[in-house]
Amino acid sequence: MRATVMYGAGDVRVENVPDAQIKESTDALVVVTRAAICGSDLWPYKGMQPSDIGRRMGHEFIGVVEAVGKDVHKIKVGDLVAAPFAWSDGTCEFCQQGLHTSCLHGGWWGGTELDGGQGEAVRVPQADGTLYPLPVSRDHALMPSLLTLTDVMATGHHAAVTAKVSRGKIAAVVGGGAVGLCGVIAAKRLGAEQIIFLDRHADRISLAKEFGATDIVSERGDTAIERVLTLTNGLGAHSVLECVGYEESTRTALSIARAGGAVGRVGVPQDEAMPVAMPTFFRNVTISGGPAPARAYFDELLPDVLEGRIQPGKVFDYAGDISKVPDGYRAMYDRKAIKAIIAF
Ligand SMILES: [Zn+2]
Repeated sequence: MRATVMYGAGDVRVENVPDAQIKESTDALVVVTRAAICGSDLWPYKGMQPSDIGRRMGHEFIGVVEAVGKDVHKIKVGDLVAAPFAWSDGTCEFCQQGLHTSCLHGGWWGGTELDGGQGEAVRVPQADGTLYPLPVSRDHALMPSLLTLTDVMATGHHAAVTAKVSRGKIAAVVGGGAVGLCGVIAAKRLGAEQIIFLDRHADRISLAKEFGATDIVSERGDTAIERVLTLTNGLGAHSVLECVGYEESTRTALSIARAGGAVGRVGVPQDEAMPVAMPTFFRNVTISGGPAPARAYFDELLPDVLEGRIQPGKVFDYAGDISKVPDGYRAMYDRKAIKAIIAF
């Protein structure tokens, strides 16, 4: 089968690899119908050390179940299923709490041991706990929005939940990639009255406005912080969604949270230390967030997608087949595309 393998910074190839197959009795074999390239795939694309064996890529996919192991009981052959960006058993202490990304028997797609989503098929561990059956046909018109539930929409929602977005309050979203844009959707969905979007790219700004952003801040650094304070009577936002992970974006996010406010961090931190420790301490700012338990959010978000109340699939502005994956990485890295969807 063909799959995406990364060999180093800027070096992504589509290659023939051994066919995915069931190894454990709790596995399912899924033939991929749609996959996406994630902003977090761009971190290794930017900085991965060269590797001879490479690293399988992709953690956002939907597909059809082709086979199941003998201990898989809920997922059936022929089901159309979505796979969240981490796999999980669905039964351990943390899964029961809804924190599937901390599953005691879970893990992450791709790398050197497992299949990735940017390939023709995937061995799915812990299939009953991991996969979410979708009640639509494989080429349903809502497929792009459904695909976002595997990561970016769930992650934007997680940022909003951990930043305690609530009705009538002010939310600020730092970073306008697909996650930040989904964060705008999530903040509006949870009732934020004012949604301040911090990004400087025209395509992202226009989509953010469509999704419900009320104010745009295109400046960076201290000027951005001053602008947000001006927009909030000098007090700052109740809820801040940090959707980048850089030192500067984290500094901005923590600096614009008002006293007693909360920051939901979903951008993977690129630095060891957290900035702005002293001011956030004295303002009693809650600092929360982490990898979104996407598997836990399907039940809540899926009806809104199916009934058209949210349209996160609009973040996809690049589409192609598997041969286009390397070009999709390049387009996203060069900021010529927000997010790429791959059809199989
Ligand atoms: Zn678990």
